[in-house]
Amino acid sequence: MRVDVVSIFPEYLAPLELSLIGKARQDGLLDLHVHDLRAFTTDRHRTVDDTPYGGGAGMVMKAEPWAQALSSIAEKRPEGPGKPVLIVPSPAGERFTQALAYELAEEKHLAFACGRYEGIDERVIEWAHEHFTVRPVSLGDYVLNGGEVAVLAMVEAIGRLLPGVVGNPESLVEESHSDGLLEYPVYTKPSVWREREVPPVLLSGNHGKIAQWRRHEQFRRTAERRPDLLEAFDAGKLPRADRTALQDLGYVVVNGRLQPRPARPEEQQD
Ligand code: SAM
Repeated sequence: MRVDVVSIFPEYLAPLELSLIGKARQDGLLDLHVHDLRAFTTDRHRTVDDTPYGGGAGMVMKAEPWAQALSSIAEKRPEGPGKPVLIVPSPAGERFTQALAYELAEEKHLAFACGRYEGIDERVIEWAHEHFTVRPVSLGDYVLNGGEVAVLAMVEAIGRLLPGVVGNPESLVEESHSDGLLEYPVYTKPSVWREREVPPVLLSGNHGKIAQWRRHEQFRRTAERRPDLLEAFDAGKLPRADRTALQDLGYVVVNGRLQPRPARPEEQQD
């Protein structure tokens, strides 16, 4: 996969030289290029921003340096059909999820446009559709100072899904969000630490029981921390053991979806 990142702070992307992503670059699995937006300016001050039309606080990123930078990137598209995908980090974009990471990991060429100040002149986003499939993407419902932190997170989440990047691909399968649930808790040696024991089932060697315990813990943790995920979970074809575990947690399956079970008469409070 080829990845191009444009930023006015290219040094901000230095962590992409480290750890598994850095190694993936060295191994030729990820062809990542970081570009300085100011290199695409033509004035003496290398200006990338100006005041907003209509007034208001802050500055807006000028269109032309972006058009120059993105045109040069579009020309670098590796052979193959379709357009490169341009991710525009923005708190006003669609939410970045594990499902989107999987989708983007299938692409041959991704470009990221790191905004700063109040963002990029909107005409750049309209124009970019000629050369890219454009996707404004948000890391979450909060506002960062710039797109760089969002790009670090997205490139790591996408890059680790590329074949060969994570040594044992099995470890991707049971992770949080891979199947719409959070991951079960994990433990390592020693089996007793500061008087706290590892759940005995994990020491039993009984793989069936361990799998069942882990599944139950996934449901318990998701119900406790992210009930919104449980309610979106496809529960149409759940085995009986899962249904029982969910009933114990206060959920029932209605039309393939999980819903909090109505309180039983003995549980109702006056
Ligand atoms: N005025 C913009 C708004 O309210 O939508 C926010 C601009 S923000 C200060 C500057 C840049 O940070 C954005 O252009 C975007 O690149 C990045 N950014 C901020 N929050 C983000 C988020 N939640 N997800 C992704 N990128 C974000």
